[in-house]
Amino acid sequence: LDAHLAPYVGENGELMGIVAVLHDITDIRRLEKMRSEFIANVSHELKTPITSVKGFTETLLDGAMEDKEALTHFLGIIHKESDRLHRLINDILHLSKIEQHSIPLDIEPLNVAEVVDRVADTVRKEVAKKELELILPENREIWMEGQKDRIQQIILNLVSNAIAYTPAGGEVAVTLAEREDSVAITVKDTGIGIAKKDLPRLFERFYRVDKGRSRNSGGTGLGLAIVKHLVESHHGKIEVESEEGIGTAFTVILPKKQ
Ligand code: ADP
Repeated sequence: LDAHLAPYVGENGELMGIVAVLHDITDIRRLEKMRSEFIANVSHELKTPITSVKGFTETLLDGAMEDKEALTHFLGIIHKESDRLHRLINDILHLSKIEQHSIPLDIEPLNVAEVVDRVADTVRKEVAKKELELILPENREIWMEGQKDRIQQIILNLVSNAIAYTPAGGEVAVTLAEREDSVAITVKDTGIGIAKKDLPRLFERFYRVDKGRSRNSGGTGLGLAIVKHLVESHHGKIEVESEEGIGTAFTVILPKKQ
C-alpha cells in the first residue's frame, strides 16, 4: 500500500484533519518484480552461450587450432552456440513485440489445414532425421479469421516441441476439429510427457522441466510463452494433457471470427 498524507486546513488556517490517499500498489510491485526477474533470466540465458563461444575461441587461438580434429569439434560447438544465441534473441524480440497489446492483429481469412501443411514443410527434415512419423490432419479445409503468420508460429512451436521431446521412432500427430464457432488444433506426441506438478508453470517464460534436455534440443524456454500470447491475442485458449512416459497433447481452441 502506498499512502500520501496531506493536512486539511480550514479557512483560518486551522488544522481540520488529515487527508489520506491510499493506493494499492501490489500490482505495480508485482509487475516490477516480474520485469526484473525477466531481465535477470535473459542475462543468464545470454551469458551461457556467449561464455561458451568465448572459451572455445580462446582455446583455439591458444594453439588448439593446430589440431585439425579439435578445430572441427570446437567450431561445431561455436556454431551451435551462436545459433542458440540467434534463436534466443529472436524469441525475446518476438515476445516483447507480441506483448505490446497496442499492435492490432492483421486479420485475414485462412485455411488452417494449409497452415499446418506449411509447418510440416518446415519440420520435414528434422522429422526424417529423428525417424519420427508426422501424421497430418485429414481435413483439407477449415476456414477461420486470424493473422496467418501468428497461427503458423503457434503450430510450429507446438510441433517443434513435440519433435524435440519425442524419442526416435515416435509419432507426432496434428489433428483439426471444426466446431460451430471455433477450431481446435491438437498436437499430440508419444514423447517423454510432463509431470503433473510442472503443468501449471509450463507457459511461463524460461520455465523448463529439464534444463539440460531443453538446451540440448536447442530450446530457449520461450516457445510456450510465445504460444500462449499468440493464442490470447486471438481470444483463444490452450489446454494441455500429458502423462509421463506416454506422451503429451496440446490443444489450441481459436474462435473462427475475431
Ligand atoms: P523449450 O525451448 O525449453 O522447449 P518451451 O517454452 O517451448 O521451451 O517449453 C517449456 C518446457 O515444457 C520445455 O522445456 C519442456 O520441458 C516442456 N515441454 C514442452 N513441450 C513438451 C512436449 N511436447 N513434451 C514434453 N515436454 C514438453
